[in-house]
Amino acid sequence: MTTAVPAPQCPLDQVGLCARCQAKAHRYGHNGNPLCSPCLAAARAQQAKKGRRARVQ
Ligand SMILES: [Zn+2]
Repeated sequence: MTTAVPAPQCPLDQVGLCARCQAKAHRYGHNGNPLCSPCLAAARAQQAKKGRRARVQ
């Protein structure tokens, strides 16, 4: 799974590239996030390890 993941179910004008892996992700608008789902999960896991002071890039 090295290629782009299909865009999530959201309006096309809210789709952007993930800040980490450049995959298509729901970046803007309601529930938008700069990270795609896998990266967001990874970032949250990492943040949980480091504690609250850690910042996600
Ligand atoms: Zn990503």
